[in-house]
Amino acid sequence: MSQARFTSCIPLPLEHKSLVGVIEKAKDWALMHGVGMRDRKNFTKDAIQIAPFVLLPSPFPRTEFNKAVELQQVLNELMHKVAHDDDFLEHTLQNALQVDEFTANLYEIWVKVRNEGIAQKLSLGLFRSDYLMQEPDVNKIKQVEFNTIASSFGAISSNLPAMNRYILRQLGYADLIKNMPENKALSGLCSGIIEAYDLFGVTGSVALFVVEEVSYNICDQRFHEFEISETRPDIIIYRKTLNEIFEETSLNDKKQLMLDDKVVAVVYYRSGYEPAQYPTQKEWDARLRVERSTAIKCPSIHYQLAGTKKVQQALAAPGALERFLGAGAISGRVRDIFTGLYSLDFDDSGEKAVEMALADAERFVLKPQREGGGNNLYGADVREALLKMRHSRERAAYILMERILPPLVSGYVVRPGGPVPPPLTDLVSELGIFGVIIGSKNKIYSNRQVGHMLRTKLADADEGGVAAGLGALDSPYLLDL
Ligand code: ADP
Ligand code: MG
Repeated sequence: MSQARFTSCIPLPLEHKSLVGVIEKAKDWALMHGVGMRDRKNFTKDAIQIAPFVLLPSPFPRTEFNKAVELQQVLNELMHKVAHDDDFLEHTLQNALQVDEFTANLYEIWVKVRNEGIAQKLSLGLFRSDYLMQEPDVNKIKQVEFNTIASSFGAISSNLPAMNRYILRQLGYADLIKNMPENKALSGLCSGIIEAYDLFGVTGSVALFVVEEVSYNICDQRFHEFEISETRPDIIIYRKTLNEIFEETSLNDKKQLMLDDKVVAVVYYRSGYEPAQYPTQKEWDARLRVERSTAIKCPSIHYQLAGTKKVQQALAAPGALERFLGAGAISGRVRDIFTGLYSLDFDDSGEKAVEMALADAERFVLKPQREGGGNNLYGADVREALLKMRHSRERAAYILMERILPPLVSGYVVRPGGPVPPPLTDLVSELGIFGVIIGSKNKIYSNRQVGHMLRTKLADADEGGVAAGLGALDSPYLLDL
């Protein structure tokens, strides 16, 4: 596999002494501006350590960056429409539901709530569409996935460019700063929560963040609270786990979600996207209670279902985009960012996909209906898994995706406890574009693109989850190719 390479924003490597000095500055900047995380090994609420970051902004082609930014509103609307198309969701998910308990549980809640009558027609989406550049055949972005729940790193990514700018100035490259795009993801995402709160329209109501038992990625959640509190001092925010929601909330006769005798206006899930976050029936009961309520959910359960890998794959099938976006140029522009996506359903086309992957496993990624990183299979594991489940219905819970081979860039990844200076390594970057949407089945009240994030990983790592310790936070340096 020959991978193309982008030139870094300044000549590398840096001279040893200058590198060591600038890394120390960058670390202090990071710590003092919340580019941080809690330590998994020695957890304490009294300290944060630096989040892994890339010392210098990583190159990304300007035209492709702009393309992703421009497409975000279209994608927001697409996912909104998918979420409100009951037939499409049912048809798309039906096989996966039979073998994937987690998705089935979510779906069951959705059906139950629909049958009872939906108490809150509005949904709030704080979305993120992720891309890798595809090299060497074409120099284009390809969508990795679309996140509809707990889309993270809006906050830290908004702080990061200022650090990269500071470092560029320290190294004598202030003139390059003009190639770093503004990033207002944090205020943009928070504006969505505030707008939903105002549409809810109950004085004295509160917002509720659904959080994990332990939030390692605390900066990326607290900044939202600080920002909202600063902009709108009247909005009080609670942080509760699903278990606490089970214990501490109730529904009143108007189906309002009550917490501490206050009505909950908006529920923002930063947890609830993977099975481990529902260890007992209580968490599922809590989820059902929230979904039944009048609170505006971010995301509502149908937004979450629309964000499944299975839906992503179904949207790549002939005619699917046209169903939602019409037969015009827009569908073509969206199709252009898709890479090969194949169903593994127990039918002819699924069988063909299995054959194709077995013949050349390195070309594909095998993805279950999961979020949060670390669940996909690559290379030899694709082959092994397919051989194992070839004759089992289980395979319908997976999709097959063409592996995107992004261009390389050299850079320094600074990690907590890592070597100083770190080695100059080959990296690849994944761009995420944030979007906000608020609407009901028949009316979209707001739809905008609000910012971006760049996450960079070692070129030979399959996945680059920052919270999982594989990736590093980064900022784009726009290249005119
Ligand atoms: P998750 O919901 O777990 O985040 P993703 O689809 O985003 O699932 O996959 C996780 C990571 O795996 C991505 O961030 C990317 O680094 C890598 N990855 C996923 N799909 C592909 C692909 N088609 N080609 C190359 N890498 C991929
Ligand atoms: Mg992802």
